[in-house]
Amino acid sequence: MTDARRPVFVDSHAHLDGEQFQADREQVIVRAREAGVETIVAIGNGDGPGSMDCGIKLAEQYEFIYATVGIHPHEARLATDAVLTELTQLAKRPKVIAWGEIGLDYFYDHSPRDLQQQVFVNQMELARAAKLPIVIHCRPSDGSDDAWQDCSGLISAYWAGSGLGGILHCFTGTWPHAKRALDLGFMVSFAGNITFPKAQQIRDAAKEVPLDRMLIETDCPYLAPVPYRGKRNEPAFVRETARQLGELRGLSTEEIGMKTAKNFYHFFSLHETANFI
Ligand SMILES: [Zn+2]
Ligand SMILES: [Zn+2]
Repeated sequence: MTDARRPVFVDSHAHLDGEQFQADREQVIVRAREAGVETIVAIGNGDGPGSMDCGIKLAEQYEFIYATVGIHPHEARLATDAVLTELTQLAKRPKVIAWGEIGLDYFYDHSPRDLQQQVFVNQMELARAAKLPIVIHCRPSDGSDDAWQDCSGLISAYWAGSGLGGILHCFTGTWPHAKRALDLGFMVSFAGNITFPKAQQIRDAAKEVPLDRMLIETDCPYLAPVPYRGKRNEPAFVRETARQLGELRGLSTEEIGMKTAKNFYHFFSLHETANFI
């Protein structure tokens, strides 16, 4: 019999393909399941061209893993026409539920900004043709609003009209940034950095985001939440993000887990499971 009180979490953003998981990926996934992580989205950026099917491979191996495909803004300089064509082919695979992560990263500037913008627009056009929502990565340069401005401008111009929406992943901005994303039809996903002592701005925004528009994620292996900070992150730790959100919203960790899981299944029109009351 199913225990209705069993916790349920969805990790809406995980990089399980990396070498950090090479030695013990199977155990990491088992631990996630034991912690109540019912579904994981394996982000399919990999290291760029040549590994953009990394999420799909995991999704084909595990029934409860879904995948994305896309070129990360870091690798925008590698996005040739052939690469974009390959992405369009990969996007047709059955367990691909979103295109991403795509967007702008002005913090690291691993690719020139004009190229990041061009490749972002190209991928929004391809995602629209593929009828897939997008997963947005947006990171401004230190102390600036620059990437937020450019990102929301490009989304308004090239995406909002699609009606497909998407996820603003690993939210790091202020409430006005979140509000803008919500107005553009996006879900806002919180990661482990919401638990960091200095992240008051993220916690303030999280108090305002409507409960039915939020998701949780790990972005593992990066950004392990307190009390695991500095260690390798893994899907089981998504619980700490739920705990922090629950504290902010006067709800239990399990209630946030359940609520954000429902939001996820609803947004992607996936089946809810027997664990839902
Ligand atoms: Zn990201
Ligand atoms: Zn990521």
